[in-house]
Amino acid sequence: MKVTGSCYCGAITIEGNISADKIMACHCTDCQKFSGAPFRAVAVMPAADVNITGDISEFRKTAESGNERLQGFCGTCGSHIYATDPEKTLFMIRTGCLDQRQELVPVKHIFGKSAVEWIAGIGAAAWVVAGPASEEVTPFKK
Ligand SMILES: [Zn+2]
Ligand SMILES: [Zn+2]
Repeated sequence: MKVTGSCYCGAITIEGNISADKIMACHCTDCQKFSGAPFRAVAVMPAADVNITGDISEFRKTAESGNERLQGFCGTCGSHIYATDPEKTLFMIRTGCLDQRQELVPVKHIFGKSAVEWIAGIGAAAWVVAGPASEEVTPFKK
């Protein structure tokens, strides 16, 4: 599948090819911290299959194991774009930045040991079509 995308402000663009079985969600505590969200979803793409343009910023993360990972993000708007090895051979592209995110369904969830426990019941919560200013959400303002 051909994918396209960008960061929030548009300074970084992404183009590439992904096979649908290469999508996963990561529930590790690093993903939770970096994103400020319960988990991150990624498309795993070899360097040859992805083209990223723009002035990307990188944070070098060193894991307890000594493993180094580069975390790529937009230095202007802060959108997370990828994680990769120091040699940049394999990219984990954040699917939230891809226009095809709806079709990029994770086939695997990793680091389930640190997943937030409420995730299994997410369908049971109130789902509101519109945003926080909408009529339906009004009870939260009281
Ligand atoms: Zn940006
Ligand atoms: Zn992770």
